[in-house]
Amino acid sequence: MLNSAATQRQPWVIGNWKMNGGLSDNETLLSDLLALLESHGGRPIARCAVAVPAPYLFQTMVRLSGHPIGWGAQDVSAEAAGAFTGEVAVSMLQDFEAQFSLVGHSERRSRHGETDALVAAKALALLQQGLTPVVCVGESLQERDQGRALTFVCDQVRQAAQPLHAQGVLADAAFAYEPIWAIGTGRSASPEQAQEVHAAIRRTLAEIDASAAEQIRLLYGGSVKAATAAGLAAQQDVDGALVGGASLNAREFFDIACAMSDC
Ligand code: PEP
Repeated sequence: MLNSAATQRQPWVIGNWKMNGGLSDNETLLSDLLALLESHGGRPIARCAVAVPAPYLFQTMVRLSGHPIGWGAQDVSAEAAGAFTGEVAVSMLQDFEAQFSLVGHSERRSRHGETDALVAAKALALLQQGLTPVVCVGESLQERDQGRALTFVCDQVRQAAQPLHAQGVLADAAFAYEPIWAIGTGRSASPEQAQEVHAAIRRTLAEIDASAAEQIRLLYGGSVKAATAAGLAAQQDVDGALVGGASLNAREFFDIACAMSDC
């Protein structure tokens, strides 16, 4: 059962394919997803989307245009154009009608040294071009064990939110709480653990901009499965899910979206 606050904030379920897929596998996954949606009467369930590797944005756009599943990227450059070898600009995502991009995923923070300042710059670049940044935050197991989870996550949120607020665009951002210890480990945060952090994130956002804080979707990510999605969705401040491994299976992803939508 969805909570009333989440009903006002239409749930958003995003599949993060990470560096997986290929033309043929993507075709199968996307057609299977569309077939499941069709068998469900074509009713849009949650606002459903996939975050695909940049080379497959064209394929995804062609396959999903006109259907109630969105698409976006997993990362983007903060720069507009120029000598930035290997980077992908917001304008390039726009060429393929991407609606959003993840920014600051923990795999990018830890493996590519992305700082809070860079994550904020990427989020701002997206918002200035009308795309939604899904700003990923989350603590390590060490931070949780030391009792610093809330302080750590809220600081990450503040670092991203303040520059967006200064430019008047905070309300159009989304955040994803992804505890690092739950990503790809099969060990999800409990609904109560997720709610505790989501509530703290919303309080942090409210200190910056109270009305934006009410609008902003807070997704939970970290080993979400169809079996655990409804429990998470029932939490007051959980407005959807960022789904990694399980999004590579059309049935599982669809069932998560259904569970998040109360359908
Ligand atoms: C992710 O990395 O965004 C993620 C949520 O992964 P998983 O669902 O596989 O834990």
